[in-house]
Amino acid sequence: MNKNQMKITFLGTGTSQGIPVIACDCEVCVSKNPKDKRLRSSVLVDVDGQTLVIDTGPDFRQQMLREKVQDVSAFLFTHSHKDHVAGMDDVRAFNHKWKKDMQIYCTYAVEQALHTEFPYIFSEFKYPGVPEVTINIIKNEVFTIGPTKIIPIEAQHYKMPVFGYRIRDFVYLTDVSAITSKEKDKMKNADLIVLDALRKKPHISHLTLNQAVALLEELKPKQALLIHMSHLMGLHDEVVKEVPPYISLAYDGQIIELSA
Ligand SMILES: [Zn+2]
Ligand SMILES: [Zn+2]
Ligand SMILES: [Zn+2]
Repeated sequence: MNKNQMKITFLGTGTSQGIPVIACDCEVCVSKNPKDKRLRSSVLVDVDGQTLVIDTGPDFRQQMLREKVQDVSAFLFTHSHKDHVAGMDDVRAFNHKWKKDMQIYCTYAVEQALHTEFPYIFSEFKYPGVPEVTINIIKNEVFTIGPTKIIPIEAQHYKMPVFGYRIRDFVYLTDVSAITSKEKDKMKNADLIVLDALRKKPHISHLTLNQAVALLEELKPKQALLIHMSHLMGLHDEVVKEVPPYISLAYDGQIIELSA
């Protein structure tokens, strides 16, 4: 991969329950199509010789194994909901292999939630073998990880503020129900927007399929992929026919390469 290129790997594309949902026998949950199997949403970004991971959900271990990830330069969190942070305990595998702290980028609010979720990681006298992390607190201001510039995009997830991220012409925004026009401006002229679309029926804290499509029609990226889907969205191969051609549903393991 040359230095102008950027590779995005979809680690997971499902909502908090994943698909199949435990004990559900709906047509999506029993589908034989691999595109209807969705681990919890997370993405891996290879850029500037670095590997970034956005969110560590409950399937993090399985996702790292599936993609044979050897090291992660930094983790970025979108918000503190369990389906986005639950896998953080497993970052210790990289601590053991590389003898270094893992770098985490998140807001102060997410840091506070991590202290509650994982008190043993932050305790003064640590049990041997717990994850070793360095938390880098970010605000809604441009920051850099090594040579890579990252633009946070603040949105509302019902009442919870969440961060999406723009890296070059790639935008990732999950778990969103509302966004101001000022923040929307940061998403314009993108090559790829990855956006939350939970299902077709309204939901208090997520965009529906129609709402996601309407937002994308406004932002006009070259390409868009939907994530954080519930089994109620329907079968992958049928829903993709219902959206404009530049939009599709992401699937687990999908890889997109972008060049600057
Ligand atoms: Zn979520
Ligand atoms: Zn189901
Ligand atoms: Zn959430």
